Amino acid sequence: MTRTGGCRCGALRYTLDAEPLATRLCWCRDCQYWALGNAAVNIVVPRAAVSVDGTPRSWDSTADSGNRMRRSFCGECGTQLFSESEGNPQNMVIRVGSLDDAAGIAPTMVIWTASAPAWAHIDPALQAFPGQPQ
Ligand SMILES: [Zn+2]
Ligand SMILES: [Zn+2]
Repeated sequence: MTRTGGCRCGALRYTLDAEPLATRLCWCRDCQYWALGNAAVNIVVPRAAVSVDGTPRSWDSTADSGNRMRRSFCGECGTQLFSESEGNPQNMVIRVGSLDDAAGIAPTMVIWTASAPAWAHIDPALQAFPGQPQ
């Protein structure tokens, strides 16, 4: 199915023409910045299935995994939309909060649990990884 999404202000829109390869909660320290202290909810999707209307701003850094990462966001409203890793060029990550309709999308995996705060609830039903899964 085709899903659509975009930033809060509407300056950026995108279309996703594939089912997510994975849906993951991420507690890495970087995601705690983007997700306001919580875990980020991310889908991993084939990069070729995403088309973007508008030009996001982006910020590059080295992630806890050691990979160079590019995070893309709206320069107007600040909504985080995408992340891309040098170590996985065929796929990219979309922030689930930016989907118009996230019905049917639920996490199956939680990663970087070692960076989660003491109060975090790690759902025992999810496959959990202390760091980056292989
Ligand atoms: Zn915006
Ligand atoms: Zn993360």
